[in-house]
Amino acid sequence: MAKTDDNPLKNIIAHTKEYGYIYPSSEIYEGLSAAYDYGVYGSELKNNIKEYWWKSMVHLNENIVGIDASIFMHPTTWKASGHVDAFNDPMIDNKDSKKRYRADNLIEDYVTKIEAKINKEVDKAKKRFGDAFDEEQFRSTNPRVTANQQKIEDANSRLKSAMDSGELSDLKTLIEEVGIADPVSGSKNWTDVRQFNLMFSTELGSLAEGASKIYLRPETAQGIFVNFLNVQKTGRKKIPFGIAQIGKAFRNEIIARQFIFRMREFEQMEMQFFVKPGEEMHWYEYWKEHRMRWHKNLNLGDANYRFHDHLNLAHYANAACDIEYNFPMGFKELEGIHSRTDFDLKSHEQYSGKKLQYFDTQANESYVPYVVETSIGLDRMFLAVLSSALQEETLADGSTRSVMKIPPALAPVKVAVLPLVAKDGLPEKATAIMEDLKFDFNLQYEEKDSIGKRYRRQDAIGTPYCVTIDHDSLNDDTVTVRNRDTMEQKRISVAELKAELHEATSINRLLKQL
Ligand code: ATP
Repeated sequence: MAKTDDNPLKNIIAHTKEYGYIYPSSEIYEGLSAAYDYGVYGSELKNNIKEYWWKSMVHLNENIVGIDASIFMHPTTWKASGHVDAFNDPMIDNKDSKKRYRADNLIEDYVTKIEAKINKEVDKAKKRFGDAFDEEQFRSTNPRVTANQQKIEDANSRLKSAMDSGELSDLKTLIEEVGIADPVSGSKNWTDVRQFNLMFSTELGSLAEGASKIYLRPETAQGIFVNFLNVQKTGRKKIPFGIAQIGKAFRNEIIARQFIFRMREFEQMEMQFFVKPGEEMHWYEYWKEHRMRWHKNLNLGDANYRFHDHLNLAHYANAACDIEYNFPMGFKELEGIHSRTDFDLKSHEQYSGKKLQYFDTQANESYVPYVVETSIGLDRMFLAVLSSALQEETLADGSTRSVMKIPPALAPVKVAVLPLVAKDGLPEKATAIMEDLKFDFNLQYEEKDSIGKRYRRQDAIGTPYCVTIDHDSLNDDTVTVRNRDTMEQKRISVAELKAELHEATSINRLLKQL
């Protein structure tokens, strides 16, 4: 049951295009880099992920409410948030390949490579020593491992101090000293490191009338901060409470690659939780734990997740970590959890001249709340689901199948309804069953090709259940239900079908396990 591993990301890209999940944007014009369109099944999967997130945040927490703010905001918003002055990435160009990279990413990739070397060394030793192997001792005494560990620590601490001080030349020196080469050409001929602002801008109004420059929001969070008082008052919320939002964000990423992992237009699911100053660390830990539970509840493999604490804290944060997922290209950020202090609200107070404070009736005092945020990229979540779902299996008879083992509650099509043959009244019986089920499930009807071929097609789409109607169905009102993952088939009565499928595929069940 191995994953297709010759190039897993390429397999995912090819499979998702062939089976209607994701198409390159404006493909008839050769596409637009880092922009993608979600297709027939992709749009459904995306909606299901959103529903799982939204219900878990907004419906299951009495103290969290949702909003849907506009993408365009008053330009001063982005002065206050720091994005106009500080939303910069340190960029470096390779003079030979003419490729541009984020300098911090090059250093992080270098660290990941050394980590992989260490892990290889540990795995080898594990095999050699068997049960007697003491990993901790090996890691702290093996000279090759400790030397590599030292390299990691040096690189991380130099990266941190260069990012903190903004000394871009230090980043270049580090890249040169550790000998980082262009991943494409192998060349070490680098330019200096420069800053590059990631916000897209456009004009509001016509140029003739004196247009003003506005930005496409680079994060959804600011729509929440500027609405803090509106929501607190109209939602009648007492601190601690949260505001959740799902929406598009735009970043002019220099190197947008790795499919939907890094896009220029993407979607975020963010929740800002407003707390009393001094209580933020408690809520930071709380949301770390809750978000990890949300992820693991999907059964994509617990070992695929890990926390990564930020070494370089953003200017607004007093604690921050990522939930990383083991994507086909390795462990990378899937979600960020940040303790943002009162930076944003205070800054908006300053720029707008409006008070953004909360009156605590118990303590009889007003204060600017602190904020703990959880921020997950919907597209990255989509990629995480696909990475674990797509599998190439060799079956008992030696044949192979491509199957997308998407968690049933998230699967785009829940049930395929298949008359065994397209005659003898079977299509009519199938249609009657569909008429009954269509209000509860996204269904698909198929009568073309052999039943085996139709099962394979549904496996490739990721449909968790196939309901087959045969001649016996006409007499005893029973059908065969085939399970995508086990390929087991069982006979059940049509009367039980809805409840059974509901139990196996509903998001509610997933939510109840949280
Ligand atoms: P990275 O370090 O990968 O650029 P980030 O730390 O800038 O990400 P945040 O600003 O914390 O990301 O944004 C929160 C979440 O939004 C990320 O965890 C990620 O899932 C998602 N995200 C950010 N940038 C992109 C992008 N260009 N394409 C897709 N998703 C993104």
